[in-house]
Amino acid sequence: MAKFEYAPAPESRSIVSLRESYGLFINGEFTPGADGRAFKTISPATEEVLAEVTEAGPADVDRAVNAARKAYEHAWSAMPGRERAKYLFRIARIIQERARELAVLESLDNGKPIRESRDVDIPLVAAHFFYHAGWADKLEYAGYGPAPRPLGVTGQVIPWNFPLLMLAWKIAPALACGNTVVLKPAETTPLTALAFAEICQQADLPPGVVNIVTGAGETGRALVEHPGVDKVAFTGSTEVGKQIARACAPTRKKVTLELGGKAANIVFEDAPVDQAVEGIVNGIFFNQGHVCCAGSRLLVQESVYAEVLASLRRRLATLRLGDPLDKNTDVGAINSAAQLAKIRELSEVGEAEGAQRWSPPCELPVKGFWFPPTLFTGVSQAHRIAREEIFGPVLSVLTFRTPAEAVEKANNTPYGLSAGVWTEKGSLILWMASRLRAGVVWANTFNKFDPTSPFGGYKESGYGREGGRHGLEAYLDV
Ligand code: NDP
Repeated sequence: MAKFEYAPAPESRSIVSLRESYGLFINGEFTPGADGRAFKTISPATEEVLAEVTEAGPADVDRAVNAARKAYEHAWSAMPGRERAKYLFRIARIIQERARELAVLESLDNGKPIRESRDVDIPLVAAHFFYHAGWADKLEYAGYGPAPRPLGVTGQVIPWNFPLLMLAWKIAPALACGNTVVLKPAETTPLTALAFAEICQQADLPPGVVNIVTGAGETGRALVEHPGVDKVAFTGSTEVGKQIARACAPTRKKVTLELGGKAANIVFEDAPVDQAVEGIVNGIFFNQGHVCCAGSRLLVQESVYAEVLASLRRRLATLRLGDPLDKNTDVGAINSAAQLAKIRELSEVGEAEGAQRWSPPCELPVKGFWFPPTLFTGVSQAHRIAREEIFGPVLSVLTFRTPAEAVEKANNTPYGLSAGVWTEKGSLILWMASRLRAGVVWANTFNKFDPTSPFGGYKESGYGREGGRHGLEAYLDV
């Protein structure tokens, strides 16, 4: 199938007005850092510097935690739930009003296609605030006792793959339950969190209820280790998650961790192939594969292997890689030079270990960080590309003969965040779902998210749930 010729259709970036430099958002105001340190955030698609951002040190983190404590004691925890709900509804509506601006900003700073930030990330961000606004005055019906209490000050650290969406997953339930927040966005994607700080001002949120401290790993460490923090919520790598679990173990802090994954996307011989191929593509090439629950291991039943692979190769040849702001783009830029180096390294290991690598013909832009959609066949379970999270647009293909073998291979991983099952038989879906050790099992679909549905992992994918009624538990004293 030949690619259509498309004229470029770039989304205008004029809707975004970037400041040259950004301070920290503490106690309702943008303020400079104590030691004047700053770092630059760039567009991964062009390497253009977008803005300079303050690096928060321990003194700044301390100031933010104190502001959050004061706001917790004097404003937020004492406010009736129905009043807190009004703020959350207001924030949700402002996000909808500013949706186009936020989508462009996210694509600029992160490198993800505008189609995804516009149609997936930002609508889900608003949905999370709307959903949790609804809970704020109904917590006594959530199943956690007649008068559930908040925990206090929450320290939240998020990654770069869904910057504003991960912020919403963390901040919306925390505020709905009556907690206050200090959040650290990832070093490479701080801009939408800073835009969110402006939204808090616009919504007249009481000062100190939300504080944003920008910085790198050290800022995150200062935050999670601060003695004034009552609850830690982290999304990121398993390695850092383990460090945080160790640091918090001797304290009374409540911790939730959402870590890596190596999900199996399992295609049975009776699956509708075209639909499954769309699900496979969505499972691993959505957001350049920078997705903790990505379907990075494809398990295909042997009898349909040739058919599925041929169809998948045809489909991959139609994907458009390029300018994240172009509305035709399917695959955007890799978020950072460091992440690109990791994807390249693991892909080279895949070849060296004997798997066969394939990518469609695909021209990569000269500037910026890019990696073509890539398939590995002939992958065995022992290969590193079948065991380790690559966190990029790289799919490892394995085969199986029986459902029992599929379950065994799917569960043969230290992770357990998600899985996908493609078959016509409802009974097989249920049989598989009850045996797969994964927090989410999608049937005949993949990467479907909804604020009402709990999300979280087994084993080294972390603990605690985010979203839905279950997600409230992490922010209540139960
Ligand atoms: P990290 O786990 O290092 O980063 C996640 C967040 O934690 C970032 O805000 C980071 O800051 C911060 N951080 C780093 N070190 C510490 C620390 N010691 N204490 C507290 N906070 C800290 O992930 P990376 O960005 O380095 O990505 C590495 C790998 O992790 C990826 O290749 C991927 O495999 C996996 N990953 C998984 C994600 C998921 O959703 N499960 C998300 C992101 C990555 P900063 O970014 O500023 O360094």
